Amino acid sequence: LGNSLQDALKKIVKSGRIDERTVNEVVKDIQRALLQSDVNVKLVMQMSKQIKERALKEEVPSGMSPREHVIRIVYQELINIIGKSTDIPLKPQTIMMIGLQGSGKTTTTSKLARYFQRKGLKPAVVCADTFRPGAYQQLSTLCTKLNVAFYGEEGNPDAVGIVERGLKELQKNDVLIVDTAGRHSLEGDLIKEMEDIHSVAKPDYKLLVLDGAIGQQASEQARAFNDSIGISGVVISKLDGTAKGGGALSAVSETNSSIAFIGVGETPEDLERFEPDRFISRLLGMGDIKSLIEKAEEALGEEDFDMEAMLRGRFTLKDMYKQLESLNKMGPMKQIMQMLPLGGMGAKIPEDAYQVTGDKLSRYRVLMDSMTEEEMLNPRTIGSSRIKRIARGSGSSPEDVRELLKYHKMMQTAMKGFRGGKFNMQKMMKKMGM
Ligand code: GDP
Ligand code: MG
Repeated sequence: LGNSLQDALKKIVKSGRIDERTVNEVVKDIQRALLQSDVNVKLVMQMSKQIKERALKEEVPSGMSPREHVIRIVYQELINIIGKSTDIPLKPQTIMMIGLQGSGKTTTTSKLARYFQRKGLKPAVVCADTFRPGAYQQLSTLCTKLNVAFYGEEGNPDAVGIVERGLKELQKNDVLIVDTAGRHSLEGDLIKEMEDIHSVAKPDYKLLVLDGAIGQQASEQARAFNDSIGISGVVISKLDGTAKGGGALSAVSETNSSIAFIGVGETPEDLERFEPDRFISRLLGMGDIKSLIEKAEEALGEEDFDMEAMLRGRFTLKDMYKQLESLNKMGPMKQIMQMLPLGGMGAKIPEDAYQVTGDKLSRYRVLMDSMTEEEMLNPRTIGSSRIKRIARGSGSSPEDVRELLKYHKMMQTAMKGFRGGKFNMQKMMKKMGM
């Protein structure tokens, strides 16, 4: 039945006060990983500060190593920045693609068309790239292959006019995707052109496509587009290579936006919904960080008292048994109970609460062995017929069962004294001389 309280407390003593050196070490590791993944230096520094503060301030949960504790905080901070993935609804809408030349807009346009097509919608594409030679051919070929409606005017430099006519012509389709021209840099007339197309297309979504391999320029690009027409989401392309997409993280943080999709190849099928957990694991260069953290958290719940749940008022027969067993192992019950801050919280503990001998405990165990899981978790459901059944099953009398239930109720009331009060494990441990 789980670990003893003593074990749990010892663990806290061992790792409860995480020292600055451990934190610095882990944070340095994390910094290195993030910088190698192209995350903006400023962002890394900001995060480091926040991580250090939290790691030192927050208690290391028992059962977690200091390293796991820091990694968990890093993960939470990254999740905070990245947020959930942008949700692009499956309904009729207009989407405008933006980004520098070569970032992957046209490829992503075809991927998105395929994505909506697979979801049963009718996508259509407008080619507003009048800048890059061959842009019309590239997109019309892709669309023909996918059997997606396409509009473009080869040789006509009037991008705004093309968008206007294209959207009108394609209006019977569900999702209209406008692919635009990029430039090698933000300089020149790119932003102006985007603003003009934007005011004609009135898109529901503006997706910024960022090459997964770009680093520091990502924030600058995102800011420029965001300041002009606003971006509603980011697509990171080329994540099938070695790039980790750290630049995109900085861009998202810079513009308070979020990531919708990632591109993982050159074909129209190579588009994936963005999954923050996987992305973070990749950024940090760690395997599956989410399951690592979940495992650690699961271990927490398994091994120790779920103090928080108890403070919220949950106190099942199972919890009680665990407590009694652990406390019994620790020695004289009364002494220990007095050290618990129950008294100080105004909870009255009846004298017989201390009188649980090993004998009684084993009788309780026999009784509980005859209970169903549901009865252990919800002792309220145990009425007189169940009491009889439990007594019969355990070779004891209904009075024994009632005594156990009464004892549980008493303890439950006492546990309520914890609620609202501060229960400081470390102080308690000091008192106990551990
Ligand atoms: P645009 O100028 O923004 O329209 O960029 P393109 O869509 O033409 O893409 C530029 C290059 O990147 C092309 O050679 C694409 O095949 C390639 N590309 C785009 N997305 C991906 C991706 O997710 N993975 C890989 N490996 N290549 C990509
Ligand atoms: Mg293009």
